Amino acid sequence: MKNLESWGKYPKIKNKKFIFRDNEELKNFLLENKEFISYGNGRSYGDSALNENIIYCKNYNYFLDFDEKNGILHCQSGVMVSEILEIFVPKGWFLKITAGTKLITIGGAIASDIHGKNHHIEGCFSECVEEFNLMLPNGIIKNCKKDDELFLATCGGMGLTGIILDAKISLKKISSKNIEQTTIKTKNLQETFDAFEKYKDIPYSVAWIDCLATEENIGKCLLMVGDFSDDRDLNYQKKKNLNIPFNFPTFALNRLSVKIFNWLYYSKAPNGTSKQKVDIDTFFYPLDSINNWNRIYGKNGFTQYQFILPKEKSYEGLKKILNEISISGMGSFLAVLKLYGEENQNYLSFPIKGYSLALDFKIQDGLFELLDKLDEIVLQYDGRIYLTKDVRVKKKIFEQNYPKIDRFRELRKKYKMDKKFNSLQSKRVKI
Ligand SMILES: Cc1cc2nc3c(=O)[nH]c(=O)nc-3n(C[C@H](O)[C@H](O)[C@H](O)COP(=O)(O)OP(=O)(O)OC[C@H]3O[C@@H](n4cnc5c(N)ncnc54)[C@H](O)[C@@H]3O)c2cc1C
Repeated sequence: MKNLESWGKYPKIKNKKFIFRDNEELKNFLLENKEFISYGNGRSYGDSALNENIIYCKNYNYFLDFDEKNGILHCQSGVMVSEILEIFVPKGWFLKITAGTKLITIGGAIASDIHGKNHHIEGCFSECVEEFNLMLPNGIIKNCKKDDELFLATCGGMGLTGIILDAKISLKKISSKNIEQTTIKTKNLQETFDAFEKYKDIPYSVAWIDCLATEENIGKCLLMVGDFSDDRDLNYQKKKNLNIPFNFPTFALNRLSVKIFNWLYYSKAPNGTSKQKVDIDTFFYPLDSINNWNRIYGKNGFTQYQFILPKEKSYEGLKKILNEISISGMGSFLAVLKLYGEENQNYLSFPIKGYSLALDFKIQDGLFELLDKLDEIVLQYDGRIYLTKDVRVKKKIFEQNYPKIDRFRELRKKYKMDKKFNSLQSKRVKI
């Protein structure tokens, strides 16, 4: 059987996959076996869902109930966001929080406490989670509600507290499948920050940064902001996608190809500000339109480096980091900048009030040395690294800016979770 991989296809590890149909089967499996990690749809980039033994949750995917009056959906953890959209968008409902891909499970969304383009206004996924059921190492099922210690540890806890079985999540009302989008083209980082500030009351925003730009152009971007239209068009249908059928040769992606892509993308957009109506898929999930797009990085795979800096230090820190990347020449096709609101109470959720940048890099010689250098800058500016994207951060770097890490470790010990649930990542950063 084919080994399960992460989205970054790095590292590769031999693994055994366990599929369960009901709680009893899962409980027996837990009691009879030693160590595993849960796996949703493998859209995390690094090694947080990898181990030799994997509990595959995607087939545990029934819809259980929908409370139409309050918009509360109850479903099993293997249900995918894409499946929710297909059923609920035509009825005028959408997820309050959604990531840059709809190809994730509800279990994965809770375990990473994912965020979207509206964190500065609506926070992380856990804000819309009313409650969930969690199977602990001894097979006992605990119902977890907001403010319970198991809730705070599991949302953002990267599958290390148990197996999320089912959850109640609140949806939001929409009257269209379309977004009224405004695109703003900026010439440098200061203009980019000014634009984010100017549009900060618009619910959704995201900027694509040209990370190969140099000197006075460092930080130039296309900032996309928007909100749902009120045109009453709820005709949402699944589209046919393009597919990348095989891994590209590793030389295909180099400094020149990234430069050409960035130049084309940036120069295609009109100067100043432009407006457009686009649908949910185009606005929220542009990359999902190409199946297996991770193959363009070749068989050695890639990683995403995502960090966040406190707001008052973001400008200076980002300028330093973009400068380092520009000097290194290891350009990234995707460099996505987002604005974040207040931090929540969860022990390991990533967001703090500030700006975060996410960059994709092909695995190549010298990359990890560059990322070690960037880690130092992130720490110097009191930032942190996002675990669901990470594959290489060192324990010492990781734990410095997650101040609730000790509470998380204590809770793992108390419930003996540290003996049962582990990933390559949890062993690397010792959580
Ligand atoms: C194109 C793209 C865009 C993305 N954009 C964003 C973004 O905007 N914001 C963001 O926050 N993330 C983003 N991500 C990351 C992605 O949303 C998260 O990694 C998410 O957790 C993946 O969900 P999954 O179902 O694929 O889980 P997996 O990748 O399989 O697992 C992720 C983590 O969840 C745990 N887990 C999975 N299921 C369960 C369960 N039932 N019980 C307990 N633990 C479980 C795993 O152990 C692992 O630690 C993006 C990823 C891609 C590929």
